[in-house]
Amino acid sequence: MVVYDVAVLGGGVAAMSTAINACASLKLRTAVIQKTSKDVSVGEILPPAASAEIKLLLNWEQFTTKCALRSPGARIYWGDENGFDVDYMFGAYGDGWNIDRTHFEASLRARAEASGADIKEVFKVQSILKAIDGNWKIQFQRRSGKSTSLQARTLVVAAGARRTFSDLIGPREKHDSLVAYYRHYSGASTSQNEDVRLWLESTEFGWWYSAKLPQNRLVVAFLTDAGLFKGHPETVFESCLTSAKLTKRRIDDAKVAKINETRLCVAGTSSSISNWSHGVLAIGDSAFSTDPLRGTGIIRAMRQARLGSAAVFEHLNGDRLALERYKNILSAEFADYQKYLAAQYSREKRWQESAFWKSRRI
Ligand SMILES: Cc1cc2nc3c(=O)[nH]c(=O)nc-3n(C[C@H](O)[C@H](O)[C@H](O)COP(=O)(O)OP(=O)(O)OC[C@H]3O[C@@H](n4cnc5c(N)ncnc54)[C@H](O)[C@@H]3O)c2cc1C
Repeated sequence: MVVYDVAVLGGGVAAMSTAINACASLKLRTAVIQKTSKDVSVGEILPPAASAEIKLLLNWEQFTTKCALRSPGARIYWGDENGFDVDYMFGAYGDGWNIDRTHFEASLRARAEASGADIKEVFKVQSILKAIDGNWKIQFQRRSGKSTSLQARTLVVAAGARRTFSDLIGPREKHDSLVAYYRHYSGASTSQNEDVRLWLESTEFGWWYSAKLPQNRLVVAFLTDAGLFKGHPETVFESCLTSAKLTKRRIDDAKVAKINETRLCVAGTSSSISNWSHGVLAIGDSAFSTDPLRGTGIIRAMRQARLGSAAVFEHLNGDRLALERYKNILSAEFADYQKYLAAQYSREKRWQESAFWKSRRI
């Protein structure tokens, strides 16, 4: 039986980026165990600095022509209704990118496979045990119902923010109860005069983002606390949109049509960093998930994949502190993020009595 150097549990940006780094750069025998899922990935806005990470993973020409729209910046209505612009033009990396998430993830998967990663699509992971020889034995069930197993010398969890694999990376610490109601529209023009940028707009019970996407689409999301609004997501979205005047006007002016029902998902901050079992590491949202206001979940997953796969390589070559160093970098990153987030929320001083804002200000 093949013993892989590393088994990666997951199938999104973090898992596929880890596989590309592990196979293409570090020549590690890598298996990816991906659970088949109907879930649609959410999150399409990449800051300019993401370009540097993407160039290490994908063909840049193909990314810019097939996966992404160039974005010159953001328009922020936060603190008052006048708004201000964040212009990427004078930054070190140039434009940001609004991506077609499905296409982007498919490109990462294709690159991981082309680099030699063995991708196993599974229906269910049945058990994960550490054997006496130190190898991990992972038993899983295929969609056909057949059970099979593989062995690996190290284990990476990159399966997102849900409470999966808590026996390996421990229980997650939840820091808030943020949720997102989101929708995609089609028919948005992407002519040169159109505003492709990310828009943020704060309202009394949460905040909104919207952005133009490839294939003439527009994404619109409302971030609020779980339990603040009862009712069907469709109704909550429509009724709350009336208080987001600028976002509503953007949708109306774009003359777009809704292409899917409003979806609801968890969007808050949670972390597993302090609880990982010895010899296991987590990458991307499995390590910690951040408020979409930060807008860096994808770049973070790609960066952690690069650092995490290097840590696995060093660990396999006898460096006993490599995994601990990786964990320390993430702990510092998470502490910085928490300070940043509180400062951003504190910039909105209206609605002093709103429970949503009160709980987030410093
Ligand atoms: C509303 C919202 C908006 C966001 N907007 C942005 C944005 O604009 N820009 C940005 O950078 N980030 C954004 N983010 C964050 C970003 O989407 C995440 O940080 C990013 O998806 C993390 O990637 P990941 O691979 O770690 O996890 P995920 O994308 O969640 O992928 C997890 C993968 O693991 C698989 N999996 C799950 N369970 C198992 C299992 N048991 N076995 C095997 N595989 C499993 C899943 O099928 C999936 O493929 C947003 C998040 C939310 C909620």
